[in-house]
Amino acid sequence: MKYATSHLMRAYARQPVSFVRGNGVHLWDKKGVEYLDAIAGVGVTSLGHAHPEITAVIAEQAGMLLHTSNVFRVDWQERLGERLCKLTDMQKAFFCNSGAEANETAIKLARLHGHRKQITEPKILVMENGFHGRTIATLSATGNPAKQHGFGPLLSGFLRVPYNDINAVRQEAALDPNIVAVLIESVQGEGGIRIANADYLRKLRELCDQYNWLLILDEIQAGMGRTGTWFGYQHAGIMPDVVTLAKALGNGFPIGACLARGLAADLFTPGQHGSTFGGNPLACRVACTVLDIMARDNAPERAAALGSRLLAGLQQALIDHPDVVVIRGQGLMVGIEMNRPCKELVARALEEQRLLITVTRETTIRLLPPLICDERQIDEIVRRVTRLLSPISTDSAAATNTVAQQAQAI
Ligand code: PLP
Repeated sequence: MKYATSHLMRAYARQPVSFVRGNGVHLWDKKGVEYLDAIAGVGVTSLGHAHPEITAVIAEQAGMLLHTSNVFRVDWQERLGERLCKLTDMQKAFFCNSGAEANETAIKLARLHGHRKQITEPKILVMENGFHGRTIATLSATGNPAKQHGFGPLLSGFLRVPYNDINAVRQEAALDPNIVAVLIESVQGEGGIRIANADYLRKLRELCDQYNWLLILDEIQAGMGRTGTWFGYQHAGIMPDVVTLAKALGNGFPIGACLARGLAADLFTPGQHGSTFGGNPLACRVACTVLDIMARDNAPERAAALGSRLLAGLQQALIDHPDVVVIRGQGLMVGIEMNRPCKELVARALEEQRLLITVTRETTIRLLPPLICDERQIDEIVRRVTRLLSPISTDSAAATNTVAQQAQAI
């Protein structure tokens, strides 16, 4: 198909590849060419493509019941709520269909919390470089002027501070009595794989306690085992008041969740929030199966071990690379920061290395491989990224052949 005649809005700068089949860490295009997936649908298919247990559950549930609405009790929603609350030590869950909606829910909770405290114009502290979604509220919370451009007027009620800077938070706290919550990612994924310091998160927790603010952790990209613990904030040993999830929770089946404890758990009263599709039996059953598989197969532990291998492999291979500024990572969330804009590498990785990657913040190569990778596949990602960044890789025909031969072996 010619892209000029496509009837799709031009919201995405798509690569000219379309996949027709996936299995585990691999994808195949229309011509049968095999690719290695080091981005997992941007942190979604953590259990790989076409996982047989998830496929079976989708088929079975689709044949039983898809949707009844939230006018009625939904048993799979009750079960998933219980499972997620046990896992996080939260008390209540609200289900929706995406990350942005999960954060919308959290933002509404923060505002309700403010109004309960008689604050009529509540404000939420958000971070520079943060990313929370594309709806108007979540875009307003997002710290990326390029993504906000053209969509004004944005929503008021957000105050932005630098990430990992506790003094900036202290200053705002002293200046503004209308702050009611902090919204933060434990690892900024879209923001270039920047990791919150454990000490910073602990101090943030203390400030939230001191001022009676809600601490809201956006775990949409970093959660579900990816960073080596079930949730990224657990590296700091803290407890948030609200946690938002999506992406890997459904392994590709759309679902989002907002979990809350304490005061935040009981803020909504019937009629104050809702979603037609949110928490349908199919989505919730799939997410329960994802939790079963991740727990059984020790997904967080695997992510920790494989992530160390990936990081060490890349650091060793690229240590002397003149264009690499730094390589950061936590578990299977890894960023290679280059000294120049490098978006063209996404297309080159596909074409020359048969490898799926993304570039965030213009200069950072982002790797989010599935958690079901094995060591050989991790090593293969290192090899292909290294070749991509080496001057020799501009010889695309030769590189493609080499990759095709090696792909047979993994
Ligand atoms: N929050 C974070 C940290 C994300 O990475 C994303 C998506 O990339 C979102 C929120 C928005 O999620 P969705 O695209 O499902 O609305």
